[in-house]
Amino acid sequence: MTQQDIRRPAPAPAPVRLAPPEPRPLISYVLPVYNEQDGIAAFHAELTAALAGRPEFDYELVYVNDGSCDGSLAILRDVAERDRRVRVVDFARNFGHQLAITAGLDLATGDAVIVMDTDLQDPPRVSLELIDAWRAGAEIVHARRRTRQDSAFKRATAHLYYRALRSAAEVDIPLDTGDFRLLDRRVADELRRYRERSRFVRGIVASMGFRQTEVAFDRDERFTGETKYPLRKMARLAVDGVTGFSTVPLRLITRLGFVVLLLSLLGIAYALFMKFFRPEITVSGWTMLMVVVLFLGGTQMLSLGVIGAYVGRIHREAQGRPLYLVREVIGADRGDASRDD
Ligand code: UDP
Ligand code: MG
Repeated sequence: MTQQDIRRPAPAPAPVRLAPPEPRPLISYVLPVYNEQDGIAAFHAELTAALAGRPEFDYELVYVNDGSCDGSLAILRDVAERDRRVRVVDFARNFGHQLAITAGLDLATGDAVIVMDTDLQDPPRVSLELIDAWRAGAEIVHARRRTRQDSAFKRATAHLYYRALRSAAEVDIPLDTGDFRLLDRRVADELRRYRERSRFVRGIVASMGFRQTEVAFDRDERFTGETKYPLRKMARLAVDGVTGFSTVPLRLITRLGFVVLLLSLLGIAYALFMKFFRPEITVSGWTMLMVVVLFLGGTQMLSLGVIGAYVGRIHREAQGRPLYLVREVIGADRGDASRDD
């Protein structure tokens, strides 16, 4: 797509020589690896086999070894030795899936970048469908899971989570979509400007705008091994998703504060009523105690809400995200000409 846009007019016809071949678009794959020694070779074979059927584009594979403590790195070294299109980033320790993806995106140079898991749950053939959608004009292509083969617990929590997140978040985060997606070069470049530490990459991408579309697929079972997302990592990612894209939890405190304050005023009125009109059943000291406890509880909750509003602002500023993203500036080269006259 980009290549065709910037294609120069053909040179003057030279009778004998053929025109130089059209540069083929380069597709980068960003492939996070954490303890996948038993499956990584099969994954690589399947991906390269799928790509061999599409000679109309070039590809590069950026594997990110996220501090694996098994033989994954040795296998990746071997793969890189034999194939010049393979690069391997080796992390000093396990930094987590989201940062592995980020490092891969920092290195990828393709006209389009595909992020996918390396456990064959995201089938390589589906990545070709993402490329087709990109060539048809999309700038972000999400791969949406129509079905998935994970445990019932994982399926149920993910189902609920994506729906809750969608209703709380200030951006439109696509349902049932992990990190398997394609990004156009422009989008990948802009994504690199998001430097927040606790990151929920799929949320950031959804919030970026551009022309987005989705391709549905049936997610396979893990080829081998266990999920590398135990409950602890899943919970952390879930919290990053909510806190990164929503201040609803903070606003809930304010609302709760109003309710608690209102109820405590009713409680205070009741305590005073009992003291003055039913003194015979009121224990001495009870009224004062009730008034103080209820009043403090209500005002404290409300003050927490006020503080929450400011924390929310700090939080958004601290994320340091770019304020806006530009796809293109039309007539950007005209600046100098207008200064001339
Ligand atoms: N992964 C990683 N670092 C981690 C955890 C996972 O790079 O700390 C990789 C893992 O090798 C896989 C992808 O991220 O390629 C997704 O992980 P997994 O398949 O375990 O997650 P699930 O599919 O079960 O959600
Ligand atoms: Mg997986």
